[in-house]
Amino acid sequence: MQPADLLFDSQHIWHPYTSLTRPLPVYPVASAQGCELVLDSGERLVDGMSSWWAAIHGYGHPRLTAALQAQAQRMAHVMFGGITHQPAVDLCRQLVAITPGALECVFLADCGSVAVEVAMKMALQYWQARGERRQRFLTVRNGYHGDTFGAMSVCDPDNAMHKLWRGYLPENLFAPAPASRFAGEWNEHDIAPFARLLAAHRHEIAAVILEPVVQGAGGMRMYHPQWLRRIRHMCDREGILLIADEIATGFGRTGKLFACEHAGIDPDILCLGKALTGGMLTLSATLTTREVAQTISNGEAGCFMHGPTFMGNPLACAVASESLALLAENRWQAQVASIEAQLRDALQPLCEEPRVADVRILGAIGVVESRIPVDMAAMQRFFVASGVWIRPFGRLIYLMPPYEITPVQLTRLTTALRQALRKPELFQSSNAAFPETMRYTS
Ligand code: PMP
Repeated sequence: MQPADLLFDSQHIWHPYTSLTRPLPVYPVASAQGCELVLDSGERLVDGMSSWWAAIHGYGHPRLTAALQAQAQRMAHVMFGGITHQPAVDLCRQLVAITPGALECVFLADCGSVAVEVAMKMALQYWQARGERRQRFLTVRNGYHGDTFGAMSVCDPDNAMHKLWRGYLPENLFAPAPASRFAGEWNEHDIAPFARLLAAHRHEIAAVILEPVVQGAGGMRMYHPQWLRRIRHMCDREGILLIADEIATGFGRTGKLFACEHAGIDPDILCLGKALTGGMLTLSATLTTREVAQTISNGEAGCFMHGPTFMGNPLACAVASESLALLAENRWQAQVASIEAQLRDALQPLCEEPRVADVRILGAIGVVESRIPVDMAAMQRFFVASGVWIRPFGRLIYLMPPYEITPVQLTRLTTALRQALRKPELFQSSNAAFPETMRYTS
């Protein structure tokens, strides 16, 4: 890339959560292979991000590439209205088989946010078909479900800046975020405000929507699975639908194939995305039960009211099927377990560092929360100079590498992270100008 290209980029192209008048630096990547990103300059960076939860098998996996190429030669895309094809049927058959409980009806869409819109629309249509006017969603603070308006309406109100959209965004119900930690003591009081909100609004609530066990972009928090069991119980008692957003947690990242399995619960609607294609192409899926699907289908509209142009894209479906075939070989379990063990050894002791407020580890996710926010541009520069790709945000420096990462590569990541914590110049001078959980990630 020429300097003129970078200048053009900074003046004309938006990157996620950036300003066009004060853009953050961007690094030109020429290629990506295995667990490394290769910069234009030829420098190789060990990948600590899996491109935001997606590239679980690393980059350029030969089996995913072969599946993509083979499908491209047959048919890259064809409309899904009035047409079906083998890649979609193969993928949906596998999804029905591996997802929890009785989820057996699948809607394929383009990205995670749309999967959430589809889930919310399913819940609304379900109640409409049953002749009940239920138009609100109950969720918890610190959640993140995407950037489209429906999804944003159930994201944390501060992180998603609900005040920017007041009057336009539906006003949903927010309970405090879970406080009982994943492996800590369960505190029954933790759930009380949620239970009160649910009871007070039980005739208005169409569905509860949650990220099971790990709240991702809203704070990288890991909470007690008992939360989910209690919520499943409350939803069953009141007949309220439960939507599990496993767009980030799905496909092994937390040590279980789906995070709901930590609690042994089955949602009524499940959203998948990100790692669905092993991070190669954009694709999402929303699954629901036969009962929900039938109710919707017998309602006033006589159909489910959604149908994107690129629905069921054959390239994405073929790659996703191959990614699921790789997961079915079950190497991921040992890989994630050994990443977790190494993250525990390397990161847990960082609790003692004066700049560190907390360390959280689950599956192939390691989070170090600092006391004051990072200077994102400076820390990013330091990481790149150290030969690693780690993208911190707010007070969170975290690792979620591809499952294929080697112990040596993972050590490069944890070493760079430890060194960064010892450099005051990589942090803001105070907490003052920075909202606590300000989000710059996806
Ligand atoms: N839900 C969750 C839990 C997510 O982490 C994300 C993406 N970070 C989304 C939804 C939205 O997905 P996408 O960015 O593909 O629209």
